[in-house]
Amino acid sequence: MYSIAVFPGDGIGTEIMTPCLELLHRACERVGNIALLTEEVPAGARAYRELGSALPESSMQVAKAADAILLAAMGDPAIRYEDGTEITPQIQLRFDLELYAGIRPIRSIPGVPGPLSDSRAKAIDFVLVRESVEGLFASYGKGAIIDNKEARETLLITRGISEKLFKASFSLAESRRRKRAGKDSRKARMTCIDKANVFTAFAFFRQIFYEVAEHYDIPADHAYVDIMSLNLLCKPWEYDVMVTENMFGDILSDLGAGLIGGMGYAPSADIGDRHAVFQPCHGSAPDIAGKALANPTAMFLSGAMMLEWLAEKHNDDNARLAAGLIERAVDAAFAQGDLVTAELGGSAGLDEVTRAVSHHVNTLYVELL
Ligand code: ATP
Repeated sequence: MYSIAVFPGDGIGTEIMTPCLELLHRACERVGNIALLTEEVPAGARAYRELGSALPESSMQVAKAADAILLAAMGDPAIRYEDGTEITPQIQLRFDLELYAGIRPIRSIPGVPGPLSDSRAKAIDFVLVRESVEGLFASYGKGAIIDNKEARETLLITRGISEKLFKASFSLAESRRRKRAGKDSRKARMTCIDKANVFTAFAFFRQIFYEVAEHYDIPADHAYVDIMSLNLLCKPWEYDVMVTENMFGDILSDLGAGLIGGMGYAPSADIGDRHAVFQPCHGSAPDIAGKALANPTAMFLSGAMMLEWLAEKHNDDNARLAAGLIERAVDAAFAQGDLVTAELGGSAGLDEVTRAVSHHVNTLYVELL
C-alpha cells in the first residue's frame, strides 16, 4: 500500500485527475498485491481564492508524509497575486522539497501523428532532464526593478545540485540501456545542453558534467542550446538522455512535446532525494477548461511514471507491472491511428481517450507484460 498525495489543482487539472486515479486503481487491482491510498489536497489558484493560500501548510504536510505526489495542473490567469504575477505553487513545491531533477520523457506513441514527415520520427524516444531548483529559476520571487531603469534576475549553478543532477541523469541513461537490452539497438548517449561559450555559470555546469561522466560507462557529449533547438527539429531520433539548466529545460521540453503531438502527450516527474512529484508537462489550459477537450494521456503516463519510480525505490515488481500496464494500454489505445485528439484536429476529447485507455487496462493480458 502506497500513500499518494493528490493535487488536482486548477482548470483541466481537476478534469484529468479523476480518470487518472480510476485508471491507477484499476491497474493496481488487475496486477494484485498493490494498492494506492490517495488523499486529495487543495493547492493552486482556486485554493488561493477560496482559502487564502496557494499552497496551504496542511496540504504540504500531506505531501511530505506521502510515498509520492501526483499533481495535475495549477494556475489561472484570472486569479493573481496583488503584484499581478500568476499563482504557481508547483514551482514552490519543487524548491521546498528540493526536487532537482525534472525528468521529461519524449517518446513517439505509435499512431499519434507528430509534425515531422521523416519516417525516423517514429523512433523519437529521448528524455530531457531539466534541473529544477536553480538556474534562472533560482531568481523566482527575487527579481528586482531598480529605479524604474533596469531589471535584474540572477542565474545560479551550484556544484552540490549539479553533481546530484548529473548522477541522476547518468543513472537514468544506464537504466534505459538495461531496459532496451536485446530489444532496441539504440546506443546510450548523454548530452549536456548549455551556453558555455558565453556564460561562466554554464562553463562551470559543463565542467561538473564531465567530472561526473568519468564515473559512468555512458558516451557523453555536449551542445549549445541554440544548435540543440535546431537538432531537436532535424534529428531528434539521435538523442537518448539530455540534461540542461532549468530555463533551457522549460523551453526545450515544450519543443519536445511538440515533436510527439502536443502538450497532452508529455508526462514528467520532478525527483529529489526523498520526494517526487509526477505531473503532465502542460499547465491548466484555461482556454479549454470545462469543455471536456483535455487530452488526459500525459496525466496517465505521469501516473505510470509514479508507479515505475515506486517500483525502483521499493524494488516492487507489482508496481512495475502496473506501470507497464498503463503504458501499454495508452499505446494500444492509439495504435490504430483512429483515436485523434482535439489538439491534433480530431474529435477525441477527455471521455473518448479515457474510455479507450481504460478498455485496454481492463483487457490486456497482465501475464504478457
Ligand atoms: P502554463 O503557463 O503553466 O504552461 P498554460 O495552460 O497556459 O500553462 P500550456 O499548458 O503550456 O499552457 O498549454 C498551452 C496550450 O496547449 C493550452 O492553452 C491548450 O490549448 C493546449 N493544451 C495544454 N495541455 C493540453 C491537454 N492536456 N490537452 C489538450 N490541449 C492542451
